[in-house]
Amino acid sequence: MKFLMVGAGLSGAVIGREMAEAGHDVTVIDARDHVAGNCHTERDPETGVMVHVYGPHIFHTDDDEVWEYVNRFMSFEPYKNRVKSTTQGAVYSLPVNLHTINQFFGKTMRPDEARAFIEEQADTTITDPQTFEEQALRFVGPDLYEAFFKGYTEKQWGCSPTDLPASILKRLPVRFNYDDNYFFHRHQGMPRDGYTPMVEAILDHPNITVRLETPYDPSMRDDHDHIVWSGPLDGYFGFEEGRLGYRTLDFERFTAKGDWQGCAVMNYGDRDVPFTRITEHKHFSPWESHEGSVLYREFSRECGPDDIPYYPIRLVEEKAMLADYVARAEAETNVTFVGRLGTYRYLDMDVTIREALDTARAFLKSDATGAAFPIFVNHPL
Ligand SMILES: Cc1cc2nc3c(=O)[nH]c(=O)nc-3n(C[C@H](O)[C@H](O)[C@H](O)COP(=O)(O)OP(=O)(O)OC[C@H]3O[C@@H](n4cnc5c(N)ncnc54)[C@H](O)[C@@H]3O)c2cc1C
Repeated sequence: MKFLMVGAGLSGAVIGREMAEAGHDVTVIDARDHVAGNCHTERDPETGVMVHVYGPHIFHTDDDEVWEYVNRFMSFEPYKNRVKSTTQGAVYSLPVNLHTINQFFGKTMRPDEARAFIEEQADTTITDPQTFEEQALRFVGPDLYEAFFKGYTEKQWGCSPTDLPASILKRLPVRFNYDDNYFFHRHQGMPRDGYTPMVEAILDHPNITVRLETPYDPSMRDDHDHIVWSGPLDGYFGFEEGRLGYRTLDFERFTAKGDWQGCAVMNYGDRDVPFTRITEHKHFSPWESHEGSVLYREFSRECGPDDIPYYPIRLVEEKAMLADYVARAEAETNVTFVGRLGTYRYLDMDVTIREALDTARAFLKSDATGAAFPIFVNHPL
């Protein structure tokens, strides 16, 4: 069969590779001038620092097959994500842990004491939290909420935490030990030469043709048996039902000498600081050494028609529009919608690869049985 992968991010690359290995003919197109989608990395020509062009990407997973998969194409260096937060005139450790709590309240509590202390802070009059704010007040009380959650969330989502659902803050967002490793997953690391060479290696197969700076055109359907769409779901339909809401990011790049902030990611919790965080890219490659440094100040705002869609909003209004697009998609033939944009969900890289492998398996099964290819393997709703 002849497949057209729209998008050379992880979704398009992994599905394309699997179909190519099964003997099919695969063309991968991308509107951008590089592969790897939003994970794209490139070396800054001036300093030599490996830059995460669309924002910081840390690979972490509990999925052994996915971990083996990425290691097949690129060697990974151990990397633990340790984030700090500047808030109310001090620097704290994130996620909020025993160090943060003791420092913030000027105490020397052990885990059980801290647990009891935080329970005292929590607003127990809230029995059925409906909003993000109620959930946070119920879990951590007003002081930690103000310092670490309120301002950051307002900046990140552009709305009051009283307008966000409680489900965003699912679990108790506090640790009663000194573990400051951001992720719990067993496998964590950084691709030694960046994500883009890893995706190039995935795409390096005799049955795969890659065409960059090539936006999708509906006439391309004529030359292919099946389209795998990892672009925006609403974009496939020309935004006819409206635009699905996203947050976009602006990165204000600056350079420095030596070590500017001493860590990879510094969050800024105060509402009156307009950016959410500063990323110092050299710290993502601690095995390298560079004189200069490249940093990004990160600002979040509503996504306009010409911006890059980053985080799907998925509130009530967006879900209603999403249902309309899903209904239209399900009436299509010879197309499968995949990935973070094609299914309008936030997906980490490991989940993206897991879903891409599952999608390729579903295709091979359909091919073997003569059944129609699925429109969605991972449903957006
Ligand atoms: C700010 C940020 C930070 C993140 N950090 C992490 C992290 O630390 N760890 C982690 O695991 N995950 C992280 N992620 C998630 C990660 O970026 C995604 O899992 C991954 O990019 C999904 O890959 P994809 O192929 O589905 O989508 P994308 O990477 O978005 O690829 C889609 C591609 O399709 C192309 N395209 C779209 N429309 C068209 C068209 N009409 N014609 C041609 N090409 C088109 C686009 O140019 C793009 O290259 C982060 C995401 C964001 C937004």
